[in-house]
Amino acid sequence: MKLHQASTAAAALLVLSLTATACGKSDSGDGGDKGGKINIGVKFDQPGLGLKTPDGSFAGFDIDVATYVAKELGYDAKDINWKEAPSAERENLISNGDVKFVVASYSITDERKQKVDFAGPYFLAHQDLLVRAGDKSITKPEDLNSKKLCSVTGSTSAQNMKTELAPKADLLQYGGYSECLTGLENKAVDALTTDDSILAGYAAQKEHQGKFQLTGLKLSDENYGIGLKKGDADLQKKINDALTKMESDGSWEKAVTANFGSANYKNEPAPKIG
Ligand code: GLU
Repeated sequence: MKLHQASTAAAALLVLSLTATACGKSDSGDGGDKGGKINIGVKFDQPGLGLKTPDGSFAGFDIDVATYVAKELGYDAKDINWKEAPSAERENLISNGDVKFVVASYSITDERKQKVDFAGPYFLAHQDLLVRAGDKSITKPEDLNSKKLCSVTGSTSAQNMKTELAPKADLLQYGGYSECLTGLENKAVDALTTDDSILAGYAAQKEHQGKFQLTGLKLSDENYGIGLKKGDADLQKKINDALTKMESDGSWEKAVTANFGSANYKNEPAPKIG
């Protein structure tokens, strides 16, 4: 090899290795989709929806929906990196490219649509209250105005309470709903508010059986969507197609029964997608 050829080859190698460095990191803003992997944001502490189990595996309706959609996009279950997506972090995780999409009891709202796009909706839940079993003092939102209420930062649940349902309640906001449960049990708080789909999962957990009850108040409509990067119409369409297929081939109904069946949760029918 002549000298100038050698240096051209070296320069080409340098460019190649620089490119490889730039793309090689798993959190390089591409949602993990280089190297056949995909990063998906889910909840880790919501039994029935998104739960990281003690053996490190993941279970729940959102996990099943995410796995189905990933498969339709060309990713096997083993190629999914599950990333925790706390309520207040979801828009950031999407905008930063840390995840390709978020399936995390994520309600479609106009405010969130300023920052991200949504596929779906794929599920309809309603805001409700979880109280201690036998507590008859809380039967409507106004009853909370003199009580301690627990919810989560960045959620529609906390927002709805503050702005309209119970503005005078003593509202405590944590990073995740599971953090409210101990407080409810030991009377540090009087109620936990979020979607009935999430509360049903907590009430049905073995360690909580007989301790809590849902009030059954349908305080809002929460249409769950799959959050994705704003402007990615191609991905949005592909996810909508996957969700449509999941409903039409019976997988949606199967996932609902498998994940909510034991929680005695009366789900709404599958919503119309798109
Ligand atoms: N679905 C509501 C929301 O997106 C409450 C549940 C949650 O925080 O994930 O804010």
